[in-house]
Amino acid sequence: MSQALNYQQWQALASSLHFQTHGLINGKPYSAKSGKTFPLVNPATGKVLAEMTECAEADIDIAVSAARDAFEDRRWAGKSPAERKAVMLRWAELIRQHGNELALTETLNMGKPIRDSLSIDVPATARCIAWYGEAIDKIYDEVAPTADNAVATITREPVGVVGIVVPWNFPMIMAAWKLGPALAAGNSVVLKPAEQSPLTATRLAELALEAGIPPGVFNVVPGFGPTAGKHLGLHMDVDALAFTGSTEVGKLFMQYAGQSNLKKVGLECGGKSPHIILADCEDVTAAATAAAWGIFFNQGEMCTAGSRLIVQESIHDEVIAVIAEVAASLQPGDPLDPDTGLGAMVEKQHMERVLEYISIGLDEGATLAVGGGQAREESGGYYVEPTVFTDVTNDMRIAQEEIFGPVLVVVKVKDAEEALRVANDTCYGLGAAVWTANINTAYRISRGIRSGMVYVNCYDADDITVPFGGYRQSGIGRDKSLHAFDKYTELKTTWIKLS
Ligand code: NAD
Repeated sequence: MSQALNYQQWQALASSLHFQTHGLINGKPYSAKSGKTFPLVNPATGKVLAEMTECAEADIDIAVSAARDAFEDRRWAGKSPAERKAVMLRWAELIRQHGNELALTETLNMGKPIRDSLSIDVPATARCIAWYGEAIDKIYDEVAPTADNAVATITREPVGVVGIVVPWNFPMIMAAWKLGPALAAGNSVVLKPAEQSPLTATRLAELALEAGIPPGVFNVVPGFGPTAGKHLGLHMDVDALAFTGSTEVGKLFMQYAGQSNLKKVGLECGGKSPHIILADCEDVTAAATAAAWGIFFNQGEMCTAGSRLIVQESIHDEVIAVIAEVAASLQPGDPLDPDTGLGAMVEKQHMERVLEYISIGLDEGATLAVGGGQAREESGGYYVEPTVFTDVTNDMRIAQEEIFGPVLVVVKVKDAEEALRVANDTCYGLGAAVWTANINTAYRISRGIRSGMVYVNCYDADDITVPFGGYRQSGIGRDKSLHAFDKYTELKTTWIKLS
């Protein structure tokens, strides 16, 4: 079971943890045909954690073929919804039972604080799998309103073989948002985790197998994007591709679909979410604190990070003072220490990218109000201080481009109208928030913002019951809620003529 341990206990557990460095195909541990491996680095220390098998094109072919066989003989799709539900509930329970191991693996692999892995990533993953298991035997199909001489049914059927490609910021949760509905609906899947964070994917698949998901239904192929990910995207025998990651790579997946079999593509991509605080909000301190957490949580490696703070000028200084206080209390620490609130950036290259954006902000003339540097260099790991830029104009690169780190940019506005205009001046449309005590302003702004999720007087409030996804270049389709089934099912019309 998940259990909060102290720093020394986590360290001791980390030194004895055994990693699964293979993939999983047809229910069996799988190592790449080439024999190649690649090093996984613990971003908290810069030290190599393990050597992971490196699957590429030939391995993807084997995984897709296993998934196809499993789908065609209906070993999973042919089970009743109630049977699938029972297996998924067992799987969710196994995830909870292995909570400490999974949380620790996630933290060592991608640098997030152990307290978050344990209290957020593990329970959210288990709840997601259980929720879709619970849902699947409660969904009815439709009968169309025809004349007396016909019956027309509209039924949902699994799409077939689903390729899943996910990023490294929430490796288990991002995978679960796709595995839950795809598997509950009866599909077979091939999961390619991010090359930075593949360790928990194989464990999730092993636990699924233990729970009773038949071999071949859930396959895992660790490998790199331009080889394994691309081949999955181009594969003629993959019926749907569910992707979470950058907008740049999301666009490639649409091209892959066009160059191959026109597979269904679902995209959850990047964002530059506006977080508006207006002077008439009920509690400026609460709003500013939420704005700080909205960017610093998970080291800012959040697609929905409220990375553009849009604040009314009369409360600007007060808001910045509160955010600076939160930042001071959130200095980066060892992710294994349960007191750490801000961990390591996922890899050296990403840390350097974030630091590069900080120097771009300085060059553009923004004022560095908080942080701005690398931290804990002596650890060998990749840490960035919580950072705030003020005097930002919305046309600056730091206000338009996704930094994906703990870097907040603050744009000052005169009133609610200007706030809405600035909020929508972006190519993205994932999250957004507005803080105001005026119901009319709250409603007008939340209707006016072009984004998939709008938070009113809160930030990043979330549950599996509501859809998650973006407008514009933040993506296509939705994860979570019953709407997620749209990505993994086809609608069939059956028209029966009656005599
Ligand atoms: P990324 O796009 O670089 O990689 C995501 C996945 O795509 C990885 O598995 C990677 O191996 C694969 N990939 C990379 N290049 C590829 C290629 N040429 N062909 C096929 N596959 C390829 O993203 P990242 O750096 O891992 O994650 C950060 C991004 O993810 C951010 O932009 C963030 O906003 C986004 N994200 C979005 C959501 C959401 O729900 N909207 C959630 C989390 C993260």
